[in-house]
Amino acid sequence: MADANTRPPLYIRIHAADNVAIVANDGGLKTGATFADGLVLVDNVPQGHKVALADLAEGDAIVRYNVVIGYAQKSLPRGSWVHERVMRMPTAPELDGLPIATVKPPALPPLEGYTFEGYRNADGSVGSRNILAITQTVQCVAGVTEFAVQRIKAELLPKFPNVDDVVALEHSYGCGVAIDAPDAIIPIRTLRNISLNPNFGGEVMVVSLGCEKLQPERLLPPGTIPITDQRGEGATDAALDVVCLQDDAHVGFMSMIDSVMRQAEVHLARLNARRRETVPASELVVGVQCGGSDAFSGVTANPAVGFATDLLVRAGATVMFSETTEVRDGIDQLTSRASSPEVAEAMIREMAWYDAYLQKGRVDRSANTTPGNKKGGLSNIVEKAMGSIVKSGSAPITGVLSPGEKVRQKGLIYAATPASDFICGTLQLAAGINLHIFTTGRGTPYGLAEVPVIKVATRSDLARRWHDLMDVNAGRIADGDATIEDVGWELFRLMLDVASGRKKTWAEHWKLHNALVLFNPAPVT
Ligand code: CA
Repeated sequence: MADANTRPPLYIRIHAADNVAIVANDGGLKTGATFADGLVLVDNVPQGHKVALADLAEGDAIVRYNVVIGYAQKSLPRGSWVHERVMRMPTAPELDGLPIATVKPPALPPLEGYTFEGYRNADGSVGSRNILAITQTVQCVAGVTEFAVQRIKAELLPKFPNVDDVVALEHSYGCGVAIDAPDAIIPIRTLRNISLNPNFGGEVMVVSLGCEKLQPERLLPPGTIPITDQRGEGATDAALDVVCLQDDAHVGFMSMIDSVMRQAEVHLARLNARRRETVPASELVVGVQCGGSDAFSGVTANPAVGFATDLLVRAGATVMFSETTEVRDGIDQLTSRASSPEVAEAMIREMAWYDAYLQKGRVDRSANTTPGNKKGGLSNIVEKAMGSIVKSGSAPITGVLSPGEKVRQKGLIYAATPASDFICGTLQLAAGINLHIFTTGRGTPYGLAEVPVIKVATRSDLARRWHDLMDVNAGRIADGDATIEDVGWELFRLMLDVASGRKKTWAEHWKLHNALVLFNPAPVT
């Protein structure tokens, strides 16, 4: 492998119709750099940033991914640096008159014979880890629960070697909120469905304060918890296991801790009896998202994830993509790929709901792209969206989830969530993922305590510097050392290894995880 700095000037053009391309070389290129086809830079261009492949007049369309990502605000000669300050952003596509289920991609050949070792649950779902999760109805109990969890880890967990971890599902919801407002269903069902994530084995236990608005029965009404085999024949319903801190029986802080630990031990014993078994790859439920993106995200990591997404669909698995604000500008590509008019209409409904939500807050559409995105070469949300959508691969979109809903089908699903990394991850957990794929270009140490997160670097430079945080280096695609297909297969195989517990992700190794962040569009009181 040649040293990155000695490589000849290289640009990457995505589509033949594009009039801009991005500079691939580490450290960028200086004025005068000459590409193999004779193009000469007339500006210094940082790595990942765009160069004009043709003379652009003021007002000319700037085309990347064969999509207009902006208009030149001044004349830009061939070889110029094309960045956000010389571009005007196009308006978002209207939600009327979109193509509905017009594209019928050729059926992908089934992928058979791939398996992993997972924990089969009573409801049929499969976990990739064996974790005791302690649900909380309200933030008030977070400190007590965390205290108890530390003692459970130190004193109880060693007695149950088949249990991987104990996780407190801490959040900021539960009281001081408009709990009867129509949109309150979103945070409530998110918490409910996270408690039922396949990695928790159906062993639900709740810590409640007592006086909060979100009462345990409201969070988990009778009938929502599947009955595990261990409860035996004849069980008709699982009674909700609640430790209520305000219960009269509690005298002193330690009596609360004792109650939580006593109940935890019951669930730990049942979890400890579980064993991994060989299950088909179709039992994977994978959430994909990106964060800290750069111009390489849409060239290396996201296309490789898109290829792996197709492999998952071919294997009969469930894979979901999300991040409404980052696909909104490509909605026409998505509605045309819907498997049915109903799926396309559901997607439009989610986009319209989100448009209204953003409008209520008078959101500046240009504010999605962060300073880091722009530094990495992504000029605006349109360019970012095109690079984000490729994570969804090429399969038909067969289902749509509203925020916080649980997935109940196989195939490629659009799970509507905000693009915020932590909120998207939280909502995908509620949707029932047992594995999370996260691509990053700028770099983020993102992780979740509840499911393994496989992180994919978009550039070799990041993969080298963050060698003990990034699990896969998709930058090899830009270096010419691997193809999109190579990295896609590597990722698919790594997913089976990680889901089986044969490999740990770097985030798991270092125990890095972010907080659960609920999406609450309803008022706080
Ligand atoms: Ca994100």
